[in-house]
Amino acid sequence: MSSLRLPIAKHFDRVQDGSIKLQRWDRMDRTDQELPPDAKCTRCRGRAAIRMPSHHANFCSQCFVHYFRNAVKRALKVLGFSEPVPLMVAISGGKDSLALWSVLHDLGYPTRGIHINLGIDVFSDASEEVVRRFAQERGLSYTAYSLRQVFGYTLPEIKTRTRRKICGVCGLLKRQLLNRLTIQEGFRNLALGHNLDDEAGRLLGNIVRHRYQYFPKQYPLLPSSHSRMPTKLKPLYRLEAHEIRTYCGLSGIMPIEIPCPLSRGATSHSYKEALDFLEARMPGTKRDFLFSYVERREPPHAKPDFGTCKHCGEPAYDDSCSVCNLADRLKNTRPQPQGD
Ligand code: SF4
Ligand SMILES: [Zn+2]
Ligand SMILES: [Zn+2]
Repeated sequence: MSSLRLPIAKHFDRVQDGSIKLQRWDRMDRTDQELPPDAKCTRCRGRAAIRMPSHHANFCSQCFVHYFRNAVKRALKVLGFSEPVPLMVAISGGKDSLALWSVLHDLGYPTRGIHINLGIDVFSDASEEVVRRFAQERGLSYTAYSLRQVFGYTLPEIKTRTRRKICGVCGLLKRQLLNRLTIQEGFRNLALGHNLDDEAGRLLGNIVRHRYQYFPKQYPLLPSSHSRMPTKLKPLYRLEAHEIRTYCGLSGIMPIEIPCPLSRGATSHSYKEALDFLEARMPGTKRDFLFSYVERREPPHAKPDFGTCKHCGEPAYDDSCSVCNLADRLKNTRPQPQGD
């Protein structure tokens, strides 16, 4: 199936920063072009600028931002985080994490960003620069770590030493290291920027492949199961990717827009495209699919089924944690020449 592209009206305001290109959205996906000139905002009856087919609504810019913040507030309430508690926010430099950080800050949550530079040449340097600029412009604080500093290898160096899919290894390392660094920085809660499309795509993939063992963790909240593990929450799970892009455009947020050069062929993209295909024909399908799942199940309980790694003292299922296991395997593997 060829990939489905929904109508997109983007105005790219490119900023040249050495070899780094940033983009800015001033116009949004699914877009004011599709609106009749006299379309009214569903909330204030002013002139509508943004079409929201999945809500059967149109919004002006102000009402859209109101809707966006409310969706995050509602998610936080569902997840048991109505009161502003300190949150560490994982910041990659992409649209989701920056939008999340921005809205949590606006809603009055004390936040600190955490960024891991994966060492993927221009991509990682550009991502870190985006984070630095975003934080500086808004007076937000963050810590940037490098993967080599905290693990001993960059991601491209790891790629030369393993046959495993690099996105799987990258995901494992980011999960584990973000957990550790969040606790080290004195936070108990880690907010992640996964959006509705990510969560719905993951749910579809788990259903299609009958991966029922992953269902306990398929929820926008994962309570801490170990004294050295933060509770993880996904406050953007009620917002679609195109809504987040719209919010970024309206809020002057300029995320990294060059794709990760190691990202080729991730199957999660296919599940998201399948859902986009359905959404284009039946607006609201994606939301219904995810929300009816989330609302029908019990939130996960903390399961103190973790032991402690004998090497590093971090949470582990066995004697040795997955990070120490990986480090051990890499140490004993010679780098292989990389084909393209
Ligand atoms: S695309 Fe894959 S390798 Fe690149 S940052 Fe994402 S998970 Fe890591
Ligand atoms: Zn309005
Ligand atoms: Zn360990």
